[in-house]
Amino acid sequence: MTYRMLIDGALTDGASTLEVVNPATGRVFASCARADQAQLELAIAAAKRAFKGWSSRSSSERGMYLKQLADALEARLPEFATLLTKEQGKPLDQAQGEVFGSIMALRFYAELDTPPKILSETAQERVIEHRTPLGVVAAIAPWNFPLLLMTLKLAPALVAGNTVIAKPAPTTPLTTLLLGELAAELFPPGVFTTIADANDLGAYLTSHPDVAAVSFTGSTATGRKVVASGAGTLKRLMLELGGNDAAIILDDMTAADAAPRIFQAAMLNAGQICLAAKRIYAPRAIYDELCAELAKLAQAAVVDDGLKPGVQIGPVQNRAQYEKLLGYLQEAAREGKVVAGGEPLDRAGFFIPPTIVRDLPDSARLVQEEQFGPVLPILVYDDLDDAIARANNTEYGLGATIWTSNPERGASVAMRIDTGVTWVNRHLELPFNISMGGAKQSGLGRQQGIEGLEAFSQAKVVSIALS
Ligand code: NAD
Repeated sequence: MTYRMLIDGALTDGASTLEVVNPATGRVFASCARADQAQLELAIAAAKRAFKGWSSRSSSERGMYLKQLADALEARLPEFATLLTKEQGKPLDQAQGEVFGSIMALRFYAELDTPPKILSETAQERVIEHRTPLGVVAAIAPWNFPLLLMTLKLAPALVAGNTVIAKPAPTTPLTTLLLGELAAELFPPGVFTTIADANDLGAYLTSHPDVAAVSFTGSTATGRKVVASGAGTLKRLMLELGGNDAAIILDDMTAADAAPRIFQAAMLNAGQICLAAKRIYAPRAIYDELCAELAKLAQAAVVDDGLKPGVQIGPVQNRAQYEKLLGYLQEAAREGKVVAGGEPLDRAGFFIPPTIVRDLPDSARLVQEEQFGPVLPILVYDDLDDAIARANNTEYGLGATIWTSNPERGASVAMRIDTGVTWVNRHLELPFNISMGGAKQSGLGRQQGIEGLEAFSQAKVVSIALS
């Protein structure tokens, strides 16, 4: 089956095709349309044409379209979830959760609005701030949560009155293209567009003069390229970038209490979460026991094809990521001590078992860089101030977690971590109504909540003298 793009209201074959690999087998299982620049140009022109009509509708009317898309997605939830597991690798129950989350995101934004705000009202004047849409928005997503992260862009962008060009990552294009097939039945032509590429159209899209804004989620390295290519036309940019989140366990916590939480925070989605716990700082008193407990959890984890029932950890998503992780495994064996995992599974597909590494120096690449996979360094500390300084010693500032038996103490440590979000005794608590965004080089701007919706619009102040 070949999945098609949605351009100017029509499902469209590509100038060429893209083969999509199932990471659980390492083999191609489907293909899809791949756009060239000429098709992208047509798509941008159609999105620009559609903007006038779409932006002149009321936000509640636009919300109705999102609700219809949510209903259509819900009606095909099992199909989307299976396709997501096949293209991304995650266990089927987690894929179902991602599709469900996408439905909920569409419904959440369908109800959200940014009504005019009265800034001043006196006998002499009335000053009102309106929000106006930006124009054509490019929504660019990565491969770890392809459907949810795309939906979290297109839903607020569309309800705010923009038209959207959705460009998924080349290794996970199918669920986005299938969403486009649903949208083809619902939306006016050009309002919602899907474009698939082979990592080659991003610069064209993000520098195009008729694209007003870019909502990008991906690595910090690519985020910098988006900033550079948007500079020529001063695009509005929303960037959700990489992270190297620290988890700090305080000395009032036992290893037995901490281990299962840390394991979950680090290994969900095979560690391929921007906000996963990627470096663990543990007090010396519990260090040995914690490493041993984590090793037990790693050895007991069921690693297999995500379509099989009971699987906890699927393959990593693509060959490039798999090979990058093999490099970290080699370094871990050389510079530290691997207490669980350490070798890729001897089978087809991109399987790396959960790997726990202790005794690494802070200078190790696995500590310094974002591994984005199930290979976890456990670091020891003697002094909490030192642990906090080490946690902050990074260009990233996405998230962090503090684990403690004393939530108030945890809250005061959280205030000392330089991140956009720091959780205490919880993780990945990201309700749609609470905005988030990375500190330092982990992002620009906010997403989710009212601030995330406002980001897809421009403030327009009308200031009237009444006398
Ligand atoms: P990536 O940066 O390689 O790719 C992301 C997207 O950018 C893809 O769609 C890709 O095709 C596109 N792209 C490539 N070159 C481009 C260019 N020059 N201009 C515009 N777009 C271009 O990221 P990835 O490997 O797909 O995803 C993993 C990264 O994403 C990790 O660093 C992870 O932390 C980050 N991430 C961040 C968040 C967040 O909310 N902060 C969420 C998920 C993932």
